[in-house]
Amino acid sequence: MSTTKRKVAIVGAGQSGLPLALALQARGDEVTLLSNRSPDEIRRGKVMSSQCMFDAALQIERQHGLNQWEHLCPPVQGIGLTVPHPEQRGARLIDWAARLDRDAQAVDQRIKMPAWMELFVQRGGKLVLKDAGIEDLEQLAEQHELTVVSAGKGEIVKLFERDPVRSAFAQPMRALALTYVKGMTPRTPFSRVCFNLIPGVGEYFVFPALTTSGPCEIMVFEGVPGGPMDCWGEVKTPEQHLKQSLAILDTYLPWEAERCRHVELSDDNGILAGRFAPTIRRPVGRLPSGRIVLGLGDAVCVNDPITGQGSNNATKAFQVLFNSIVARGAAPFDEAWMNASFELFWDYAQHVVRWTNSLLTPPPPHLLNLLGAAGQCPSLAGVIANNFNHPPAYFPWWTDPEACDRLIGDHMARQAAAGVAA
Ligand SMILES: Cc1cc2nc3c(=O)[nH]c(=O)nc-3n(C[C@H](O)[C@H](O)[C@H](O)COP(=O)(O)OP(=O)(O)OC[C@H]3O[C@@H](n4cnc5c(N)ncnc54)[C@H](O)[C@@H]3O)c2cc1C
Repeated sequence: MSTTKRKVAIVGAGQSGLPLALALQARGDEVTLLSNRSPDEIRRGKVMSSQCMFDAALQIERQHGLNQWEHLCPPVQGIGLTVPHPEQRGARLIDWAARLDRDAQAVDQRIKMPAWMELFVQRGGKLVLKDAGIEDLEQLAEQHELTVVSAGKGEIVKLFERDPVRSAFAQPMRALALTYVKGMTPRTPFSRVCFNLIPGVGEYFVFPALTTSGPCEIMVFEGVPGGPMDCWGEVKTPEQHLKQSLAILDTYLPWEAERCRHVELSDDNGILAGRFAPTIRRPVGRLPSGRIVLGLGDAVCVNDPITGQGSNNATKAFQVLFNSIVARGAAPFDEAWMNASFELFWDYAQHVVRWTNSLLTPPPPHLLNLLGAAGQCPSLAGVIANNFNHPPAYFPWWTDPEACDRLIGDHMARQAAAGVAA
């Protein structure tokens, strides 16, 4: 329990807003939470994400008692990378897999968000079902000491000015689609995120998860805009969506198609198609009255899903903000504090953004070299896989060709020495 009870409003009940609401509630703060959808609407609605979370983010959920599905969710035990051969159909230019030191997990947000909202209400929290507009924010900001906007990709986040220096792209870099399926042949000897990079066409990745009806596999398609995987415009029904997903695999990734001979959709809402521009916004939003609100999660830092970092980021952003609120004691949540709180998160997130963005344009030679070398060197593959848990560890070598060559050389030399010793 905090000695100083603070009055906080949170707009948006997603991966960042709900943990914040529950954590503040747990320390005795007075929290008002706004959601534009009820728990049942979310439960019965479309999937929103593939939400694979790595250990550091899962650990934050565990610390706050938010890991209710841990024992039910199939683990993601590793990461694999495959690049098809450009000329020989069915052959692979690069193909490796490495174990994660600690498992990752993906729990359907249609399970998590409604359960967390209901928990918040059971514990006496005030949940208001409303699609908040500027007028609502004015009222909330007047009545609360701090108003946090964690509305994801909702219209309201345009209140936060785009930061042109920190935003690398002005347009969507991929046409995205999700397909939740049952009946896929599992990967052995360990489960994994199977990343397939098809140069010039896009990416496909797939991994086990927990959905509303039990274990499933989530297929994620990332099509280069205007290319052959940017193909969801004419898809109207769930059946067509599944058919299109399988057609892509048949054409480009026959080893993945092979795993899908008996798949069916998890449910008619286990599909999604869309696109958005990766965007960094300024953290402080100013309302017409001059009052200020603070952005959190995707509202101010939205990445392309290619590296599966959004839910991880949202969770880490929540933890940084929560710590900052606690550290504030009874002092006012003013603009300087808001900016400073976001910069604490940005110290970490800038690396995630840079790494993620680097995968949205054709890879430079040193990265191709690195990804190829990992196929010959398991310890190198292990480093690449495990850094998904903490992307700042990719630097400097991810963007510095000389440092990258040194890293490859060190790992190769150690492997050769171990071979000689054996
Ligand atoms: C195709 C795809 C695949 C992804 N895969 C992964 C992955 O594998 N791993 C990963 O870590 N991340 C992944 N993500 C990203 C991840 O889902 C998001 O980054 C994360 O959910 C962001 O959390 P958030 O709290 O900022 O927003 P959200 O979780 O989106 O929550 C925002 C909430 O605010 C509500 N809202 C919006 N406007 C209003 C309003 N005006 N008033 C009230 N409520 C409002 C929304 O309905 C929503 O419930 C993926 C995303 C996509 C699109």
